[in-house]
Amino acid sequence: RKFEHAGLHPVMLENIKLAGYEVPTPIQQYCMPAIKLGHDIVACAQTGSGKTAAFLVPILSKLMGKAKKLTAPRPNPVTYQEGITPPVRAEPLVLIVCPSRELATQIFDEARRFCYRMMFRPCVVYGGGPIAEQVKQLQKGCDIIIGTPGRLVDFINRPAVLTLKRLKYMVIDEADEMLNSDWEAELKQIMSGGDQEEGSLNYMFFSATFPKGARDLAKEHLAHDHVRVR
Ligand code: AMP
Repeated sequence: RKFEHAGLHPVMLENIKLAGYEVPTPIQQYCMPAIKLGHDIVACAQTGSGKTAAFLVPILSKLMGKAKKLTAPRPNPVTYQEGITPPVRAEPLVLIVCPSRELATQIFDEARRFCYRMMFRPCVVYGGGPIAEQVKQLQKGCDIIIGTPGRLVDFINRPAVLTLKRLKYMVIDEADEMLNSDWEAELKQIMSGGDQEEGSLNYMFFSATFPKGARDLAKEHLAHDHVRVR
């Protein structure tokens, strides 16, 4: 019932304190151990439930644990991250798909907060934003990409800019909203885009409601031992 008992990386625990979160919300209590154990997740979740941290915290904590050599505190993480040699293309470990620019920006802000003193660099992309600037951001290195379906597909179709071959986690947030907005084809393309190595990619599926379209999408990609959270 406490963040301290969830087996999180020490840097993540510090970031949670800095964020001012004292106790995990119910969805966080259920998602943290399941994600830690490597399960896919399908969760019935409303905005305001703390769902963003429910996936960001355990995912980032776990990635951090796998990269022990990266844990040394850095006095100025922003300078450090901006200063690294720009890779030719973005090869993120985590992809988060959500329906709107507003939500993407909120998730991005939360990701930046939890990436503090971590090696990971988040980027956000959305339709209507200047594409050249987003390409520039991606080319500075991108470990966590957050975006809306249309713009993500634009980039996935430009393999010189973005590849999903290193992806470990794919999070679909507010799936019902995206299906309502006619993003079904884009969602299908994105969700299949990371399927190249069976079993090496975890799917997290969040939605307030589960109409047939959402159930079908989830069923197609989630592992058999996925955990359901309500
Ligand atoms: P979300 O449902 O992810 O949109 O989160 C709703 C709000 O709750 C956001 O402003 C979060 O920063 C905040 N929040 C998330 N988890 C916690 C927590 N464990 N304690 C306090 N606030 C939280």
